Amino acid sequence: MALRTIREMGDSVLEKKAKIIKDVTPRIRALAEDMLETMYESGGVGLAAPQVGILKRLVVIDVTEERNEPLTMLNPEIVVQDGEQTGYEGCLSVPGKVGVVTRPNRVVVRYNDLDMNEWELEAEEFLARAVCHELDHLDGHLYVEKVTGELRDADELAEEAAEEEAGQEEQEEARSADDHAAEN
Ligand code: ZN
Repeated sequence: MALRTIREMGDSVLEKKAKIIKDVTPRIRALAEDMLETMYESGGVGLAAPQVGILKRLVVIDVTEERNEPLTMLNPEIVVQDGEQTGYEGCLSVPGKVGVVTRPNRVVVRYNDLDMNEWELEAEEFLARAVCHELDHLDGHLYVEKVTGELRDADELAEEAAEEEAGQEEQEEARSADDHAAEN
């Protein structure tokens, strides 16, 4: 296994359509392993082959907290989608940025595994978002094309969230102090 270099926005490989995988060669297996290692190392929840410069229809995803349920999908295709979700999204190819994107809330994705068996996966919420995001990469699209409003600095947003949380804690403390006062 080896880490691969993640291509960043502006690199033309990210704007091209990736090709169907017909045979799972040792190179494809190595690519899938390397992509997982690269994704985990970078703290991402998904990675598509074009992001490491390879124009093949291959994505890896792991949105679990334990980071132990990797999905490796070859030739993935969304066959059903419904609902809507709106939230922040980021991308390893657009480092340090986030933006609000609306996606389907539920998708069914058909794909091949590394033995070319066909599977269908039903994904909801965050996993559905990840699937849509990664599949867009295979067609040369980045989430920034779909952002509502401005692209923001991830750090700035994290700071705001931390401040909000601190504010809530203060309110809770004040409330429990009130309760205490009432008891006396
Ligand atoms: Zn991405």
